[in-house]
Amino acid sequence: MPLARGGTRTEHSTLNRVARYPREMEASGGFDDKRAPVQNANGRTDCRLANAVTAEVETTSMTRVTVWNENVHEQEHEAVADLYPDGIHGAIASALAERGFDTETATLQEPEHGLTEDVLAETDVLTWWGHAAHDQVDDEVVSRVKERVLEGMGLIVLHSGHYSKIFRELMGTTCSLKWREAAETERLWVVEPGHPIADGVEEYIELPETEMYGERFDIPAPDTLVFNSWFEGGEVFRSGCCYRRGAGRIFYFRPGHETYPIYHNEAIQQVLANACDWAAAGNGPEPSFGNADPIEAIDESDDRSVH
Ligand code: ZN
Repeated sequence: MPLARGGTRTEHSTLNRVARYPREMEASGGFDDKRAPVQNANGRTDCRLANAVTAEVETTSMTRVTVWNENVHEQEHEAVADLYPDGIHGAIASALAERGFDTETATLQEPEHGLTEDVLAETDVLTWWGHAAHDQVDDEVVSRVKERVLEGMGLIVLHSGHYSKIFRELMGTTCSLKWREAAETERLWVVEPGHPIADGVEEYIELPETEMYGERFDIPAPDTLVFNSWFEGGEVFRSGCCYRRGAGRIFYFRPGHETYPIYHNEAIQQVLANACDWAAAGNGPEPSFGNADPIEAIDESDDRSVH
């Protein structure tokens, strides 16, 4: 279970951790994994066997994930509380902790919504679920989160978080969409199967009962679209969208309506874990800005500058 705010971070065993994809794979332009292929009995390369071998490898550092939730529906609607007795944040944090992440939770009701400078400084990836109380999120906290994203903190925006202040601020568009609550089937098709966020996922994820979100989804074109949804009622929707803002990585993931057990679905939990791996800040150089001394010897006698 994740710790309540104010505690020290949980130290989870690394025994169950799976090998994480090195981030530089994607930076180098290819999503394909470079794990050693394994020959099967027919002499053909079997990547699944290679995956099974590397899955035993342990990693040395744990990605610190702060799971944020407005935590309103859980307190106001019994059906939601029944589905998520520890809150949506509790369900997500537990699923991530089981997959080897160092998790904490934070909610709207806490001082500074649980997102103090210290908490954000110790957060590699922030996940965001909100719906009924977007306007109650303090602008100062939104600015603080935005600053950390630009510095390199990962941000996973979930479901109705599309309309949160932080997502709209980072996208620069209305982030509006069409919707319908009819407990209809959704298929999330993987449209970028080599992307690390799709690792271990089947060709599509089928959710028997979901809220429909339909296009047009008023977002900037994603850097990479990983999932595209089809709904029983006929609409389609860009359901898994990757962005970069500053040094930070952002992933919008559509599933998650509060009256359906979406976050108990193992495939959805796998995508969330993959997304946290993908979005976690790397160890790249600290960028420097402003007037710069030349690295090589050059003639600096030009005096036409007005600065
Ligand atoms: Zn919803």
